[in-house]
Amino acid sequence: MMTNKRLRQFIEYLSRQNIVWAPQRIGGELVMERVSDPKNVELSSELPLHSFKKILVPPQEALFNYENNKIFPAVNPPGQVIFGLTVVDLKAVTFLNQIFAKDPHFQNRLKKALIIGQSLMPKGKHQFFLEKFEEDVLEHLKFDVFLAAQKDKFLVYTGSEDGQRILDDFGHKDYEHIEYVGPIREAGLDSQMQKIRGKFYEDDKIWQDLGKICIECGKCTLICPCCFCFDIFDQPDLKAGAGKRCRAWTACFYTDFSEVAGREIEKKKPKFLRSTPERIRFWYEHKFVRCPDEISLPGCVGCGRCTKVCPVGIDIKENLQRILKGKLK
Ligand code: SF4
Ligand code: SF4
Repeated sequence: MMTNKRLRQFIEYLSRQNIVWAPQRIGGELVMERVSDPKNVELSSELPLHSFKKILVPPQEALFNYENNKIFPAVNPPGQVIFGLTVVDLKAVTFLNQIFAKDPHFQNRLKKALIIGQSLMPKGKHQFFLEKFEEDVLEHLKFDVFLAAQKDKFLVYTGSEDGQRILDDFGHKDYEHIEYVGPIREAGLDSQMQKIRGKFYEDDKIWQDLGKICIECGKCTLICPCCFCFDIFDQPDLKAGAGKRCRAWTACFYTDFSEVAGREIEKKKPKFLRSTPERIRFWYEHKFVRCPDEISLPGCVGCGRCTKVCPVGIDIKENLQRILKGKLK
C-alpha cells in the first residue's frame, strides 16, 4: 500500500529526476501538462481534456535528417514520466502500441517513458464503454506502475522491470507484479462493440444527417487518443543538400487527406473521399469496423473527448446508440 502522503513524495521524487507530465488544472480545465510544481498534480476520476497522445506521438516530429546524401537519425527523445493515466487512457496507449508495433519512433518513445496509471474511473456524461475497475484488466494494459485507489491509500502494481526499478529506487517495496499478456481479453471484443460492428451498415441515413452539420474542422481526430493518421513531408534546410523528413498529425476530415496519386481529371485531383458524409462515415468505419477486423481492438476507448470539442455538437455516444438502436453502457 502507498499512502497519499507517500504518493506525493513519489511525485516529488520523480519530478526531481525526470520530465514529468501529469493532469493539472489550467484555466479551469484539467489537461495533461508538464509538471513544474508537483503540488499542482491532480489525481482524480476526471479525464484530462488533452490526453498523453502529444507526448508519445508528437503533433510534429522529425523522422530523420539528411545532409550531402547521408541520413542521420533524428534527435533521441528524452526519458519522461507520464503520470496519472486512467484505465481509459491506458487502453488507448495499449491500442497505439499495437498500431505502431513496428514503428521505431513510437516504440523508442514508449520504451523511454515511464507510464503510471491509476484506477479512478471517469464518470462524465460523454463517456461510454466504461466498466468498473477490475484488477484482471491490468494484464491487458501497457503500464509501468499502477495505483489502485483504496479509500485513502493505493495498492501498487508494476507492469514492467522499469516500474519495479523506480519503486525500488524510491524505497517502496510493497507492490505486486502483473505480467502483460497482450491487449486482447480471452473473451475478445466486448459484446457492445460486436453489436456496433454488426449493425454498422444498417442505417446509411445517419451519415447524410451528420454530413449536413459537420464542418470538417478535424478537432475530433486531433483530440482523440486513438487517432493516429499522419502526413509525411520534407522540410529542406537553406544549407545546400540538407533538410529533414517529418511527420505530423492530420485528419481524415481534411480534403487533402484523401488525395491520391494519379492523373488530374477536369482539374480535380483524384480522391477517394469526396463528400462530408463519406468522410465522417470513414472515420467511424475505421474505429468500429476496420480496427476490430484488423487488430481485434476498437479504435475508440469511449473517452468522449471528441464530443466535448466538437463545435457543432456531434455526439459520438448518441451516434453509436443510433447505430445500435439501443443504449450504450
Ligand atoms: S470517444 Fe471519441 S475521442 Fe474518445 S476514443 Fe472514442 S473516438 Fe476517440
Ligand atoms: S469536431 Fe465535429 S465538426 Fe469537426 S470534424 Fe469532427 S465531427 Fe466534424
